[in-house]
Parts: sequence; structure tokens; C-alpha cells
Amino acid sequence: MSHASDTGPDPLALESGGLLTIDLDALAANYRLLRDRVVPARCAAVVKADGYGLGAPLVARRLQAEGCRDFFVAQLGEGIALRPHLGDDCRILVLNGPFPGSAAFFERHRLLPVLNSLEQIAEWQALSAMLGRRLDAAMQTDTGMSRYGLSGTDLRRIADEPHRLDGIRPSLLMSHLGCADTPGHPMNRQQIERFCEHRALLRGALGDVPASLAASSGIMLGPEAHFDMVRPGAALYGVNPGPGANPMHPVVRLQGRVVQTRWIEPGTSVGYGARFTAQRRTRIATLAVGYADGFLRAGGGAGIATLPDDPTALPVVGRISMDCLGLDVTALGDRELAAGSLIDLIGPHRPLDDAAAAAGTIGYEMLTALGSRHQRRVFGQQA
Ligand SMILES: *Cc1c(COP(=O)(O)O)cnc(C)c1O
Repeated sequence: MSHASDTGPDPLALESGGLLTIDLDALAANYRLLRDRVVPARCAAVVKADGYGLGAPLVARRLQAEGCRDFFVAQLGEGIALRPHLGDDCRILVLNGPFPGSAAFFERHRLLPVLNSLEQIAEWQALSAMLGRRLDAAMQTDTGMSRYGLSGTDLRRIADEPHRLDGIRPSLLMSHLGCADTPGHPMNRQQIERFCEHRALLRGALGDVPASLAASSGIMLGPEAHFDMVRPGAALYGVNPGPGANPMHPVVRLQGRVVQTRWIEPGTSVGYGARFTAQRRTRIATLAVGYADGFLRAGGGAGIATLPDDPTALPVVGRISMDCLGLDVTALGDRELAAGSLIDLIGPHRPLDDAAAAAGTIGYEMLTALGSRHQRRVFGQQA
């Protein structure tokens, strides 16, 4: 039998219940938007957690093609995996810094640690002594989040005893804002001031080192938060960095495939725990995306979906299962919904942030929860 004229669907693609579309041109446009906004500061890119679930090599390579040269990951392993995908002129910084015994791996893979504590400084110093040369590193200070970074006390010790940095060539001084998504929050001002104090305190020991404070939301606070480099992650991927209208382009579309539809009579329930019971004759579509695909269970009874060409809200009803969810598609009447056809869970009529809010979470968590089970389609120029 000849298949020469067979243009039917790829059966392997149809295996997956969800289709995740990633628009690299939108990602690039988001990068340019942020980069242009912070001039003369540099714009880095945060690609931790596998590029917020989109694929770190895919997004980092495209951002490199847009001119980005500074990339942040959280973990050593993420940096090692990313290194071969980027050119020698790109820096990869590892936010967690070295755990005891891991410093040599940073050096071997040309990764820059973010040194967060006196212990991590000592780790990096020990390697420097062993290799007999100075080693670059970023240094982080804690300006109020109590999460990562050197304390004020640590900084005064370094300022008083600059030999504590022997062997280390600091190439970036950084900290992180805790409340930047709330522009009026008093903590923003406090953290900016404290960061300036930290810079001043270390100037004697370090000289003038480039400084970085703002992530996505910090960029929206304006120039006084930008310093020499900004570090957006979420906004690159389409998450709204501010409280107002979203200036970013959507990068991700998530569609689920229809498994089957049915009409149910009043009194009939849908899904585990019978948490939804039809009050009227109701048409239910089973969509093959569940919480194992990042469509969080907490969104049961609160989410909505839409057809690609029609903004009518189709409510998620009943509990979300591991592999599927139920949609009330009564509003579509008897309109055909063929098995395998696609319905948007995140799409033109359903922004990522709204889908996340319905599940009681934020776009960040929704993206990083997407997982590996979707069929992935990439739009836009790959680099
Ligand atoms: C995750 C992270 C970022 C990026 O934050 P977004 O809000 O996603 O832009 C920047 N800096 C640090 C230290 C981070 O941990």
C-alpha cells in the first residue's frame, strides 16, 4: 500500500492530549521591549526551571540571537545543560551558588556562581587558591527578602577585612526585590536604599562593580530600580509584570484535545467526588488535559476554556483529573466538536494570567508546571 499521497495527521502527535505552542517571535519581541525600556542598563534573561517550562535551550538560543549575553539559571545542573547551547561570549550565572564541594564544576563548565554567603565565598576562594588564579563571581546581598545573599553584618566584615575576597574578582553585585509587583509597597523604596548602602559599603573592597536589582516587575518600577543590569524572567514568557494592562506579548498557547462529548440530564454529576451536578440538560466535553499536564487541580470548578475562533466561555466543571477535565459546552448547542479537535486553555481569548488566577495561582507556577507530556509546536524563527 502506498502512502505517498497520505497527508493525514501524524499519529504520534495525536497521542498527546495537549498541544503547547511556543511563539519565539513573541519571546523576542518581549525581550526587545524590556531591553529598550531599561537603556542604558543591560538586559539579562532568566531561564531557570527549564526556561520557565518552555525549554531553556530553545528560549536562550533565541534570546542570544536577539543580543542577550547574560543568562541566569538557578542550579548548577541547569547551567551545565545550557552551556553547550550558548556561545563563549555568553555568561551563565547560577543563582544558588556552589554547595560545598561543587565549586570545581562551575569552573569546568564556565559557569559563574552567585555567591550568597561567606561560606560560598570561602568555597570559591578555595578553588581559586587551588588553581592559583583569580576567579570571577557575582555576589548577592540580602536587602530584605531574607532568602539569598550576604547580610549587612557579612558586608561590614568584608568591608573591614577586604582580604576575605582575595582570589575573587566580583563582576556583578546583585539583590532581589520582594514586592516589586506592588509599585506602591514601601519595601521597594527600602530595598533600593539598602542596595545603594550595600554598594557603598563594598566600594572600598570591590571598587565599582556593576549592580543588578530588578527582575520583571522591578523593571516596571522605573529607572531608579534598573541599576546596570536587569534580570527579567516571567515577563519574557508573557506573564504580566505589573498590576495594569499587560504590555507583554503572549508566548504560550495551551490547547487540549476533545476526547468525547455527551449530553447529560439534570441531576447527573461530572468527575471525581461528584462535585458538579447538572441543574439542566448539559453538554459535557472531556478534554485530555489534566493536572499532570500542569492544569492544576485547584482550577476545578473555576477555570474556563474557549474555542480558538470563538470567545464564548466554556466553564471547567467538576474536579480536574490527572489526565482530563470536563467542560460545560452547552453554550455551543449541538455544534460539532470532533474527537481530537483543539480547545484553548491558554490562548487568544484566555490569557495565561487569567487561567492561573482561576486555579488560585500565578502565571509563573502555571508555566513551570506544564510538564513534558504535551505535544510541542514552536512558532517563529529558531536560533
Ligand atoms: C527568578 C529570579 C529572577 C527573575 O524573576 P521574574 O520575576 O521571573 O522576572 C530574577 N532574579 C532572581 C534572583 C530570581 O530568583
